[in-house]
Amino acid sequence: MTHSELPRDPESTGTAAPVPGLPRPRSSADDLPHLGDAVLDSLAPGFPSADVDGLRSRVRGPVYAAGDDGLAAEVAAWNVAVQHTPAVAVGATCAADVGEAVRWAVAHDLHVAVQATGHGPVRNAAGSLLITTRRMQGVHIDPERRVARVQAGVRWLQVMQAAAEYGLAGLCGSSSDVGVVGYTLGGGMGSLGRLHGFAADHVTAVEIVTADGRLRRVTADAEPELFWAVRGGKGNFGIVTALEFELVPVPSLFGGGIFFSGDDAPALLHRFREWAPSLPEEVGTSIAILRVPDREELPPPLRGRTVVHLRFAYAGTDHARAEQLLSPMKVAGTTLLGYVGPLRTDEMDAIHMDPKEPMPGWEKGMLLRELPTQAIDALLAAAGPQLDIPLIMVELRLMGGALGRPAAVPDAVAGRSGAFSVGVIGPAVPELARVVPAVGRGVLAALQPWAASEKLVNFLGEVSGPDEVAAAFPPEVLARLRAVKAAVDPTDVFSFGHAF
Ligand SMILES: Cc1cc2nc3c(=O)[nH]c(=O)nc-3n(C[C@H](O)[C@H](O)[C@H](O)COP(=O)(O)OP(=O)(O)OC[C@H]3O[C@@H](n4cnc5c(N)ncnc54)[C@H](O)[C@@H]3O)c2cc1C
Repeated sequence: MTHSELPRDPESTGTAAPVPGLPRPRSSADDLPHLGDAVLDSLAPGFPSADVDGLRSRVRGPVYAAGDDGLAAEVAAWNVAVQHTPAVAVGATCAADVGEAVRWAVAHDLHVAVQATGHGPVRNAAGSLLITTRRMQGVHIDPERRVARVQAGVRWLQVMQAAAEYGLAGLCGSSSDVGVVGYTLGGGMGSLGRLHGFAADHVTAVEIVTADGRLRRVTADAEPELFWAVRGGKGNFGIVTALEFELVPVPSLFGGGIFFSGDDAPALLHRFREWAPSLPEEVGTSIAILRVPDREELPPPLRGRTVVHLRFAYAGTDHARAEQLLSPMKVAGTTLLGYVGPLRTDEMDAIHMDPKEPMPGWEKGMLLRELPTQAIDALLAAAGPQLDIPLIMVELRLMGGALGRPAAVPDAVAGRSGAFSVGVIGPAVPELARVVPAVGRGVLAALQPWAASEKLVNFLGEVSGPDEVAAAFPPEVLARLRAVKAAVDPTDVFSFGHAF
C-alpha cells in the first residue's frame, strides 16, 4: 500500500521539517535486546542519507536522523532516566505518516519503537526508527453512543475534560498526563477500575499499523484475535494510530487524598488492610508511604518528611455515605494536610497527586493475592518510616471488583488475580543507580510470600528482558499472545517497550 492509499486522518496537523543526516540501519545488535547502548552503537553501520530524504518527502511530520539538531528534543521522554538514541525519529502527524515510517523502517531493516509522552519507556530505543505520536491530538466524543475516539498522542486530561461536559469519563489512571494509548494497551488500572474494570476492557476499536505497513481497523468482529491481543499485550503488535472506547457515566464523584504523619504508618497500614477490602466497588483506594523531597515548591507540612498518603475515590451520588466509608481511616492517624470531597472527573489528579514535571524514575511493581497482617509487617520492616531509604513512593492499591472479572469482550489483560497491587518508585540518578533498584527490589522480595502469579504490565517498570515480561501473563494467555505475534510480526519489528 502506498502513502496515498493509506486513509488520511482528518484530525491530523503538522508540517515537515527536513534535516539532513546519516542514520544507520537496524543491526544484529537489535537481536540482543538488552545490550548496552555502547555495544549497539559499535555494531551499527550507516546507510545513505538520500534514503532518509526519501522518507522526508513522504511524511508530513519532521524526520530526524542520528546526529541531527532537534533529535534529542523530539524523542525526550517524561521519564528523563531514559534518553533515546534512535537511528531515525519520525514525528508522525497522522496514520499515513505512521504507515510510511513503518514501511521505510522494515525496508531498511530497522526495528520500530513508539513514544507518546515518555511516561513508560522501558529502555533506550537505540538504533531504532522511533515514531513520536504527540502531534496526533484528535479527540472526538460521541455522547449518544458514549464512545470516545482518540488519536495516538492524546493524554488522559484531554479526554476527561471533553467527556466531563456530558457527565461521562474515561477510565484514566492516577495521572491524567499519561498517554491514553500506552496506558490502555497495558490494561490501564485507575480509581474507577473496581466499578468498571480495566480501560482495555472498554476498547471497541483499534486502528493499528502492523509490520506489513498496513493500517488495520481491528474490532471484536474484524480480526478478533488481534483485537484480543492488543488489549493487554501492549505495543508488541504494531503502532496504534487511534483507539475507540466506551466512556462511563459518572454523575458524581467524591474523592481526594489525605496526608498523615509518617509516624502513624503502622496504624494506618494495618487499618487499611482490614478496611479496604470491606469497601463497595464504587470506591477506589490506595495508600502510599511517601518520602517527600525537601523542595520549596512543596507545602511545608510535607516538605522533607516521610508521610502516609491515603487516596480515596467514591463514584456515587451519596456523599454522606462516602464520608461514612472514609471515617475509619480518617481517625487512624494524624492529618497533616488533605482534601476529600466533591471532585469533577477532570480533577481526578487530586486523588493521587502524581508529579507533573518530568523526572528520572526507577519503578517496579507486583501483585498480591492476599494481604495478611504479616504482609503489612513485612512491608513496614522493608520500607517503613523508621528507615532512611531512597524510595519516593511505596504504594498499596486495592484491586478486586470489576478488575477481577473478565471483560465483556475477552482481552489479554494480565493481573485479574491480584487483590492488591504494590508499586515502588525511586529516583533514577547516577549516585543512587545501584541503591534504588536494590532497595526497591528488596521491598518487593519481602512481599513475595503473598505474591500473585500475574503482574500488571503497566507497572512492570524495569525488566531484565522478555522473559520477565512474559512471566506477567498466565501461561495460556502468553501462548496465545505469542501466536498472534508470530502471525502479525514474524520478524519482531516491534521489539521495544514491554516485549515478551
Ligand atoms: C506518573 C505515572 C502514573 C501512572 N499511573 C498509572 C495508573 O494509575 N494505572 C496504570 O495502569 N498505569 C499507570 N502508569 C503507567 C502507564 O500507564 C504506562 O507507563 C504507559 O505505558 C504510559 O504510556 P505513555 O504513552 O504515556 O508513555 P510512553 O513512554 O510514550 O509509551 C510507553 C509504551 O506504551 C506503548 N505505546 C505508546 N503509544 C503506543 C502506540 N501508539 N502504539 C503502540 N504502543 C504504544 C509502547 O509500548 C511504549 O513503549 C503511570 C505512569 C506514570 C509515569
